[in-house]
Amino acid sequence: MKCLALTFDDGPGPATGTLLSTLRKNKAKATFFLMGKHVELRPALVKRMAREGHEIGNHTWSHPSLPTLFDEEITQELRATQDAISSLTGRTPRMFRPPYGNTDDRVRELAGDEGMAQVLWTGTTLDWKLRDQKKIRSAVLRLAKRDGVILMHDVVPQTVQVMPSLIKELKKRGYHLVTVSTLLKGRKLAPGTTYP
Ligand SMILES: [Zn+2]
Repeated sequence: MKCLALTFDDGPGPATGTLLSTLRKNKAKATFFLMGKHVELRPALVKRMAREGHEIGNHTWSHPSLPTLFDEEITQELRATQDAISSLTGRTPRMFRPPYGNTDDRVRELAGDEGMAQVLWTGTTLDWKLRDQKKIRSAVLRLAKRDGVILMHDVVPQTVQVMPSLIKELKKRGYHLVTVSTLLKGRKLAPGTTYP
């Protein structure tokens, strides 16, 4: 099977419900790296993500560049977000993604202490900068590959708007849209490791 993981950072946002409906209509699964402070703002969407079979990862509470923080601050950013997600969904995330992709060994190890692996990406769309449906669509189609992990943002309205046509095209090209964990085909990500 040719699998691809669509991942969405920084949410949940105002348009995330629309995205969830698109995913449901197309029987596609995705992975969401959530910010704790947005979890607090939109708890119903977090519950819905979990209920509809999507994967949820930790994207810190307030989106700082983690390598600039003290150990205790990093742990606090991660732990508060873990608590917010697990109290809503009953499941504690096993993966995190560092804001801006800024990370180092210390960040990776501290996240490992909180039970999480670090998940980066194979392709980034720069959708937050493009803000254009056509450009975002062609970026994803260009970056898509077997077992790829594509980084997007569900807080970018154009990303959510282009998703119905984009998913249709990805399916036409033979991709199965799955969560990051499904991509691993039974392998478990060890806390403190980095993937892909
Ligand atoms: Zn982010």
